[in-house]
Amino acid sequence: MARLDLRPRPALQPEYCKGCLRCVDACPKDCITQAGDLNATTGVRPVVLHLDDCNGCQLCIQACPEPYGLVPQKAPGETASGAKAPTAAHDPGEFELEDPTHLFGAKTSTLPAPVDLPGLALALPTTEPLMLKGTYAAALGALLAGCRHVFGYPITPSTEGAELMAKVLPHLGGSFVQAVSEVAAINMMYGCAGAGLPCMTFTSSPGFSLMLEGISYMIGAELPGVVMNVMRGGPGLGNIAPEQADIKLMTRGLGHGNTHAIVLAPSTPQEMLDLSRLAFELAFAYRNPVIIAADGYLGQMAGVVRLPATLTRPGLPAWAVWGDRAHRMNLVCSIQLSDTDLEAHNHHLNDKYADITKKEQRAETWLCDDAEVLLVACNTPARMAKGAVMDLREAGVAAGLVRPITLWPFPIDEMRAILTKRPRARVVVVEASPGQLEDELRLALSHAGLAPPPIQSVRRMGGVLPQRGEIVAAVLAGQDVAASGGVA
Ligand code: SF4
Ligand code: SF4
Repeated sequence: MARLDLRPRPALQPEYCKGCLRCVDACPKDCITQAGDLNATTGVRPVVLHLDDCNGCQLCIQACPEPYGLVPQKAPGETASGAKAPTAAHDPGEFELEDPTHLFGAKTSTLPAPVDLPGLALALPTTEPLMLKGTYAAALGALLAGCRHVFGYPITPSTEGAELMAKVLPHLGGSFVQAVSEVAAINMMYGCAGAGLPCMTFTSSPGFSLMLEGISYMIGAELPGVVMNVMRGGPGLGNIAPEQADIKLMTRGLGHGNTHAIVLAPSTPQEMLDLSRLAFELAFAYRNPVIIAADGYLGQMAGVVRLPATLTRPGLPAWAVWGDRAHRMNLVCSIQLSDTDLEAHNHHLNDKYADITKKEQRAETWLCDDAEVLLVACNTPARMAKGAVMDLREAGVAAGLVRPITLWPFPIDEMRAILTKRPRARVVVVEASPGQLEDELRLALSHAGLAPPPIQSVRRMGGVLPQRGEIVAAVLAGQDVAASGGVA
C-alpha cells in the first residue's frame, strides 16, 4: 500500500464540480471550502482546495460523485491524458482543465441515430352527424388526432372535456391524470411531451394563468402539447360565464422569456373538433405548444358536428426521449447556462416564430368584397357579429366580417388585402373583453406598417356577450358600445 504522503493529492476541475460539498465533509484536514463566487460556466459555486495540510488520503476523491470533479494530481509535466503539461512554476494545487474525451477517451456509441417514426392516417367509417357540446367535440378531436394522455385539474367551464377523457382513455390504452393543481398538470404534460407523445389539458382562465410557467418551459424545450383554455370572466376568480378575458395572456404573455404559441379561436362546436385536431398537427410540426382559445359559451353550447374521413395514429419523433435503442440518447431540457448559447436558442425560436407568422395565419372573411363596415370578431361574439352583418345589409349598410381563427399569429395579411381593396372601410371590433382583441389588431397593423383605419369598439365583459341588436345600433349610430354596457 502506498504511503499516504506519497499518494497524489487531489486536483480540482471547477467546471465539473456541482457544488455538492461531499468532499468538504469527507476531508479530515479541513482542506476544502466552498468558493465565494459562482463559476461563470456552470452557474454553481464549486469548492476550493487549500492543500497545505493535505495528507493525500484521497477521501475527497472517493467522496466526489463527479468523475471529472476531483482527480489525483499528476506529476509536473504530466496531465491526466498524458499530454504535455506546463512544467515551469507548476502549482500542484492547480490542474489544467481538460477535455473529458482526453481523460477517458472519446464517448462512443453503437446505437443507431434517432429517426422519425412517421404517423399514419387511418380511414374512419362514415357516420351520421353528431350533436355535441363544444368541450366534448374538442375532446373527440384530440382523440382522433391520436392524443391518449390528458392531464388536468377540474375547472368550470372546461371540466366536461377532461371528464370525457377520464372515462374513455383507459379503454383506449391511454391515461387521464387529475393532478393536484394546474401547475402539476402542465408539468406532467412537459414530461409526456418530452417522450414524443401527443398530450393535452383542459382548463379555464384562472387555471390557465397557473400554467404559464410550464408553458414557457415547454416552449423553451420545444415540446408539443395542446392547451384547451375555455375562457371565463375575470379578473381573479371572476365567474364561470363566457368572456374573452385571456387574449392578451395567450398572445403576449405565455410565461417568462421569448415565448409565443399558435392560438386558435374556434366559434362553433364543429371548429372545436376541427381546430383540436389541427392543434396537434401544428404542435408537432413546429415542436411548440398550441393554445385553443374557446369561451365559456362555446364550451357548453351543443351543435352539429361531422367527423373527418381519417384519424391519426401518431408516430414517434426523432427528438423524443424514449426508451428504445434509437431514441434513448436524446435529451430534452429548457436550460442553457451559457449566455451565447441561450441567445442563439432565442434566435432559433425567433426564426420559428417568423416561419409560423408567415405560414399559419388563418381567418374567415364574409361579405368583405364591397364592405364599408368591417366587423372584426372571434369566438362566440363572431356569431353575433355575423347576425349583425345580415341585419346591417338589410338596412342598406354594406357590412362584412373578418373572423380571426388564429389570434397569434394575427391574420394581418388578410386584413391588409381587404383594407387595400376597401381603404375607406370603417372597422368595428366586437368582443367580450375590455379591448384585448382590438389591441392585437392595432399591434398587427402597426407591425405591418399599416395606418390604422377608423376603429370603433363594441365591448362587453363579465360574462355579458355583445348582442346582435346592440352591434347593429352601434354601427348605425357610429358610436362605441362601452364596456359598461349600452351605446356610449
Ligand atoms: S486528500 Fe485527504 S486530506 Fe487531502 S484534501 Fe482530500 S480528503 Fe482532505
Ligand atoms: S464532491 Fe466533487 S462535485 Fe461535490 S463539491 Fe466536492 S469536488 Fe465538487
